Amino acid sequence: MKKIQMTTPLVEMDGDEMTRILWKMIKDELILPFVDLKVEYYDLGLPKRDETGDQITIDAAQACKKYGVGVKCATITPNAQRMTEYKLHQMWKSPNGTIRSILDGTVFRAPITIPTIHPVVKNWEKPITIARHAYGDVYKSVELRAEGPGTAKLVFDGADGSHQETVIQTFKGPGVIQGMHNTDASIRSFAHACFKYATDTKQDLWFSTKDTISKTYDARFREIFDEVFQEYKARFEELGITYFYTLIDDAVARVIRSKGGFIWACKNYDGDVMSDMVSTAFGSLAMMTSVLVSPDGNYEYEAAHGTVTRHYYKYLQGEETSTNPMATIFAWSGALRQRGVKDGLQELVRFADELEGACFDTLGEGIATKDLVGLMEGITPKPANSAQFIAAIRERLEKRLA
Ligand code: NAP
Ligand code: MG
Repeated sequence: MKKIQMTTPLVEMDGDEMTRILWKMIKDELILPFVDLKVEYYDLGLPKRDETGDQITIDAAQACKKYGVGVKCATITPNAQRMTEYKLHQMWKSPNGTIRSILDGTVFRAPITIPTIHPVVKNWEKPITIARHAYGDVYKSVELRAEGPGTAKLVFDGADGSHQETVIQTFKGPGVIQGMHNTDASIRSFAHACFKYATDTKQDLWFSTKDTISKTYDARFREIFDEVFQEYKARFEELGITYFYTLIDDAVARVIRSKGGFIWACKNYDGDVMSDMVSTAFGSLAMMTSVLVSPDGNYEYEAAHGTVTRHYYKYLQGEETSTNPMATIFAWSGALRQRGVKDGLQELVRFADELEGACFDTLGEGIATKDLVGLMEGITPKPANSAQFIAAIRERLEKRLA
């Protein structure tokens, strides 16, 4: 069979532990036999990051900007224990954080759903995608403890000499104070990424804040979204999709009662909390995909889960593991499809569709990794280890492509 050709390289970012093992299996079994793969390879495994003083992560992010599409394996974010385990020179920052700040992107998380795994919320028929604003608010706040009576103030000294001041609270006794911020530029990027992703995926976009209470701060988010929407309005009408704004508490109630099938844009904290709720309700972290979209249209695809350390340690002991490769396979199919769309390569787009189709065929026959076995209903699952599962997908992929 003639391999599918590519024109522009995909930025490939390798990673750590169990997902690094899966990464190679996926490439060898499901990609390389079918696609004449063109990549620019960056090894973001922790040893290489340490060796290069983390320059490799910055280079990879720049490459994503240059070429427009990247695919990333899960990576270790070092902590104290990893410092000794990997004898690191420094506690390097989270690669995802570094890439996100260089691309100025928004992360969209969507579950891969199958008919035999029912969401906890029984009326959810389609995936719900969460878009989390990943800058500012409480994640970049400063805090003080007021030790006793006194006055807390919010002060802004403008570079132009202007001055604004307001009293937060006059304390009669001890208490706590928090100062947080966001920037118009970051909110605007977030809005562009959301509207762009909605038109890419042809889904409605919901956005929620608490602007009835936060009449300046949250209201600014709403205003900027309204402004930016004007640029996308015609395209939304063409596609028959809608932009819907509502209060966060109303959104929560509506999401639970909905059928799914839309994107829910959330402020930083709301997105942190709601993405865990939505992903758990859909079933498994191993079935959650993640894509970083920049306002200028660059895409970085990955699985939402980590490097699955517990399975890796078992693997190193020579034990059999049944780690689910679905989200990592979908990172590849997502990236290849996007490359195909950008370069006008129908064959590559079709390959991505067939690869995902082969995954659904496999799960549809009940062949599944152990994490899914307990979740499946109305079918007798056939448990498989990672290699068997990937081999089963390959068999079905070959049939589809024949
Ligand atoms: P994790 O790797 O997501 O794994 C947590 C647990 O979830 C696993 O022990 C496993 O449960 C289950 N799980 C996750 N993915 C699975 C899969 N594909 N198949 C089957 N089960 C799966 O999170 P973690 O253990 O907290 O973090 C491990 C490392 O990953 C850390 O060093 C962290 O820094 C890194 N991390 C990276 C990213 C990223 O690069 N995007 C994201 C998160 C975490 P059982 O053990 O019960 O089987
Ligand atoms: Mg969280």
